[in-house]
Amino acid sequence: MSSPSVVDPRPGAAPDQTWDPASIRGDFPMLERTIRGRPIAYLDNAATALKPRSVIDEVVRYYQDVTANVARGVHTASQEATERFETVRHQVGMFLGSRPADEVVFTSGTTGAINLVAQSYGRAVLRPGDEVLVTEMEHHSNLVPWQLVAEQTGARVRAIPITGSGEVDLGWLERNRSDRTKIVAVCHVSNVLGTVVPVARVAALAHEMGAVCVVDGAQGVPHLRVDVGALGCDFYAFSAHKLFGPTGLGVLWGRQPLFERMPPWQGGGGMIARVEIEKSSFAPPPARFEAGTPPIAEVFGLGAVLDYLAALDRRAFEHEDRVVRYAEELLRAIPGVILHGAAPGRVGLVTFSVEGVHPHDVGTALDAGGVAVRAGHHCAQPLMARLGVTATVRASFAPYNTRREAEALAEGVEQAKRVFGQ
Ligand code: PMP
Repeated sequence: MSSPSVVDPRPGAAPDQTWDPASIRGDFPMLERTIRGRPIAYLDNAATALKPRSVIDEVVRYYQDVTANVARGVHTASQEATERFETVRHQVGMFLGSRPADEVVFTSGTTGAINLVAQSYGRAVLRPGDEVLVTEMEHHSNLVPWQLVAEQTGARVRAIPITGSGEVDLGWLERNRSDRTKIVAVCHVSNVLGTVVPVARVAALAHEMGAVCVVDGAQGVPHLRVDVGALGCDFYAFSAHKLFGPTGLGVLWGRQPLFERMPPWQGGGGMIARVEIEKSSFAPPPARFEAGTPPIAEVFGLGAVLDYLAALDRRAFEHEDRVVRYAEELLRAIPGVILHGAAPGRVGLVTFSVEGVHPHDVGTALDAGGVAVRAGHHCAQPLMARLGVTATVRASFAPYNTRREAEALAEGVEQAKRVFGQ
């Protein structure tokens, strides 16, 4: 564990007096490790967030004490596992704004959730000439599944442009309203620019066109309080691992009447009502969309995440926001650093380029100082093209990150310029 209490001599950089990340750093075992002899400064939270001990313990508890399959056995452990599994489903519904548990489907991740909507809902409703609208800043997970279903149905994928500051061009959406549009699929928060998409407005426009609104919430839930009812969307997807939980687990929230009408996407055990050799009938949602043994240990872990977040001081997220702004301020002061994205209210991360230094070299220099960032196209190649780059460096934050880590980031960038710059 490193001490976050740094006295900063720079003007306008007083240490945060209101909430101290030291109060939670001890909860995250990964923060105890060193990288190349330096304390780790983990600034790759948008790729995957660190896991608190309580989450790790809960996953272990499943394997040590409650190992059994769910919804299949009558024996005690199976009943215990099933009960816990369904309790977490209920917790997820509450987390997303007091929704009923049967609106919560467990998937393999955000990617799995969006593919489910594309292959079940999309494949059933799309006709030749119909449109799926995405934005120019989507992660490939909220783009490629739509391309695949467009190919299968004769529909077409179009992008809502983004503005120079990295916001969705709502004017374009208003001007291009069309009854050919059947699905509008947008991120809640951009994984590259940190832009918060005004989902309520997008969903309202989608509904005016008679379309549904699908939200990729992978980068939303780690930073924003999400109430899917208030957002007005029809589907909301997220990954447990970006929310301090286990890998291999995602959530698809969907409106009950839509789920009821949707055909299954994958077939197997657990999703049926009755099976004969030539045909089957299917269980009601959510079971209809959960073929095979689900990620049980991971669902246990997600339950522990939701408990952890419920107990976490909300000022933790204000602190996170201040550290992001501080990092941005430090980077902006370095000659040759170009910051990408300027949308007001953006959250969670800073994405930048360094003139004359390849992003991978910046990442390597930072790693030498123990600072973990992501360098690359961030699975958002169309956005890279829009920004006129092939790759960038992204530093992404969580409440346990400190001002000292933001400074280590800036120092590493200076070092990268010295070593790799012309
Ligand atoms: N959408 C966004 C905005 C993301 O940041 C990510 C993860 N990088 C995904 C989708 C995909 O998430 P997963 O790989 O967990 O399915």
